Amino acid sequence: MLWSLIKIIAFVVAVTALTYGAMMLMDVEGGATIGVAGKEITLSTLEMVFALAALAVTVWLGLKLMAFLVATFKFLNGDETAISRYFDRNRERKGYEALSEGMMALASGEGHLAMTKAARADKYLKQPELTNLLTAQAAEMTGDRRKAEETYKKLLQDDRTRFVGVRGIMKQKLSEGDTATALALAQKAFALKPKHEETQDVLLRLQAEKADWAGARQTLGAKLKSGYLPRDVHKRRDAVLALSEAVEILDEGKTIEAREAAVEANRLSPDLIPAAIMAARSYIADGNARYASRVLTKTWNAQPHPDIATAFAEIVPDETPEQRIKRFRTLTKSTVDHPETKMLLAELNIAAEDFPAAKRALGDLVEKEPTARSLTLMAAIERGEGADDSVVRGWLTRALTAPRGPQWICDNCQHIHPKWAPTCSNCGSFDTLSWKNAPAEEVAMPSGTEMLPLIVGQNSKTDLPAEVAVAEAEIVDPEPSK
Ligand SMILES: [Zn+2]
Repeated sequence: MLWSLIKIIAFVVAVTALTYGAMMLMDVEGGATIGVAGKEITLSTLEMVFALAALAVTVWLGLKLMAFLVATFKFLNGDETAISRYFDRNRERKGYEALSEGMMALASGEGHLAMTKAARADKYLKQPELTNLLTAQAAEMTGDRRKAEETYKKLLQDDRTRFVGVRGIMKQKLSEGDTATALALAQKAFALKPKHEETQDVLLRLQAEKADWAGARQTLGAKLKSGYLPRDVHKRRDAVLALSEAVEILDEGKTIEAREAAVEANRLSPDLIPAAIMAARSYIADGNARYASRVLTKTWNAQPHPDIATAFAEIVPDETPEQRIKRFRTLTKSTVDHPETKMLLAELNIAAEDFPAAKRALGDLVEKEPTARSLTLMAAIERGEGADDSVVRGWLTRALTAPRGPQWICDNCQHIHPKWAPTCSNCGSFDTLSWKNAPAEEVAMPSGTEMLPLIVGQNSKTDLPAEVAVAEAEIVDPEPSK
């Protein structure tokens, strides 16, 4: 604003000064007399100023002509490119002008103008590595995918622009959803520029999606080396990849290698529950109960989870329920207040048919944090203690509408997974599954659920909702640590 004001003032001042100067010159008496070929020409002062200006222009034109004549002379003396060089300098100037205008157009979002300028720059410059880039980007902006791809392919031919070409086509394939081709291109781009962060990320994501765990671990290593990944994050993700690798080798029947990979994953990230379980199972298979017990306890202390308890039970499969309760003290002694511990101890006591102890273990969990599981356990305890059917059904009905408790939930899209997986099946994010409560429990139930306890308390079993009947059937034969 201020700057434009200054410019306007400067312009007015300049015009005034020029007019004033010209008037002064007109008022000046006399002039100059030039003698040419016997004649005398008398010029006024103003005419003299114009004559000088005309002279300057003539000299400039003369110099241009001289340069052209010199070029022609050189050409006649055998320098064949002299004249074309003379014109090339002009072409080059025009070419660079078009190129810079094209880049401006691109930056201001005028795709079609950028395209025209790119074509002009290409005509004058004959430097495809410069102009193709502009053409490709302008083509993408205008939505001309075919032209863009064609231009990217041209970029592949030059060593200096190959990476740009590969990256361009890769991005196109990604947006088309052709992940197989995109993966091959990402690998090529990675080979050309191993330190390019975006390429590393794309490659890693595609490798994880295609379950190429070994390749993904290499890419992750490259990310760490380039300094784009904190060491602890690398360790955790490497553990997830190692675990996925282990699961895959196990599916192929190579148990020994799978065990090694699982133990490695557990070493990298002891709080990764599925890795700990897999490592523990491999120790159990080796007959190393002490190691199995140790890895499971360590992970349980970081995050109590029913699967850990299941694996812990597998260490001594044929013990009595009483022996099991005693052995499980090692696992649970540091987490006595955790809901998972309370429910686990209740389950173990139900299996041992010590129902008062089971009730004590459960404590006030059903009041403070009722979940489907804790309420079902309560129903089992009541049945074991010989309570009335209506009481048992009351607990089961509460369980129907109670929150599910923690589940494997994606931190990114909140999708709930029935079991742990390295990548989210919904949004494809890597290592985003956490064992936690769903943010908002939305149990779709027909209205009037509040009346259920009254209804089921009086009706016969055949009229019960299917879920209650199933839950009840499970309770008749309670299984420990399930
Ligand atoms: Zn997700």
